Amino acid sequence: VPGRQVSVPRQRGGAPLGTTLDQARLGAALNRLAGTSVERLLARPETTAAEALHGRGLPARTVDGFLRPLLAALLCDPELTTSSRPADLALRDFASGRLCLPEGGAEALPQLLARSLPPGTVRTGVRVTSVSTTSVTTAEHGEFRCAAVLVATGARDAVELLPGLRVPDFHPVTVVHHTTDEPPGTGASLLLDADRGGPVAHTAVVSAVDPSRAPAGRTLVTSTVLGPATADTDTAVRAHLARLYGVATTRWETLAVRHTADAVPAMRPPHDLRRPVRLLAGLYVCGDHRDSGAVQGALRSADRAATALLTDLGVSRPLHTADP
Ligand SMILES: Cc1cc2nc3c(=O)[nH]c(=O)nc-3n(C[C@H](O)[C@H](O)[C@H](O)COP(=O)(O)OP(=O)(O)OC[C@H]3O[C@@H](n4cnc5c(N)ncnc54)[C@H](O)[C@@H]3O)c2cc1C
Repeated sequence: VPGRQVSVPRQRGGAPLGTTLDQARLGAALNRLAGTSVERLLARPETTAAEALHGRGLPARTVDGFLRPLLAALLCDPELTTSSRPADLALRDFASGRLCLPEGGAEALPQLLARSLPPGTVRTGVRVTSVSTTSVTTAEHGEFRCAAVLVATGARDAVELLPGLRVPDFHPVTVVHHTTDEPPGTGASLLLDADRGGPVAHTAVVSAVDPSRAPAGRTLVTSTVLGPATADTDTAVRAHLARLYGVATTRWETLAVRHTADAVPAMRPPHDLRRPVRLLAGLYVCGDHRDSGAVQGALRSADRAATALLTDLGVSRPLHTADP
């Protein structure tokens, strides 16, 4: 893909990725993927992500040393039971762009979107208790009449408001934040654990990417465990991080250990990446559970739902023109 060559990072904290020939083949495979249309990817036979990885003709050490831990990180699925289709899309996204974090935290994205709307359009801190095609009832502010309703919550909350939707299984995620005075020497790289040598699936010196997330003047290391937290999670994570970064972690301070049981909807095959978003005229639903379990999936489903809603309302132009 001209101008978008993927350079494969040298692996750290595990066995060497292999020869430069292996790396060149991996780079070529990722570049081919980046140049493949979404339609062609979705037309491939569906299997699990784990099985599909081994059918790519790449050396086993390249698959196990890089692609498997990378996909586990992108999908929050350590066993790669995810359908090969969302897995292919996740790898394609990785190959055609770069990894990034929203500056200021995950909330920055919805805040930026809301800022592009006329003042007062969005109200936060209001809990919706029921919806119909013509009204929204809230816990705190009574009932609002409306022309249409789009429910944009996670799967469990959507089912509360729209009984009849299916609740998927979820992949649990635990995130551990540490601070230290001395940054490990890995810069802004994402470290993947290829050896499964401890609980951490991936980790990064996040303050090297976005200093605004760290306490003033400190280094913030954020690490992800794909599974539940236990009483000794912090101790096990520190020991693992010491091996991954090659530095002593005993004096690191633990800022937080955050567990989310319903972090990412599971997408086992057969997985429908275009779940219906129009339930009936006037009632719509979007979120990562209607597409793929990530921010991109939530946004794609929102685009489909908004298009269906505007079509039903007979509106053929955007309702506002501000540039987000
Ligand atoms: C720890 C963790 C790490 C993740 N890392 C990544 C990552 O690196 N990259 C990535 O792409 N994805 C990641 N994800 C997944 C990503 O966060 C989700 O896929 C995405 O946020 C889904 O967006 P959504 O709009 O469907 O739902 P949400 O982001 O969950 O938004 C739903 C909103 O609806 C609100 N709501 C719910 N019920 C009601 C109600 N009754 N009334 C009013 N409001 C209500 C909620 O408060 C929430 O604000 C991660 C998730 C977790 C938990």
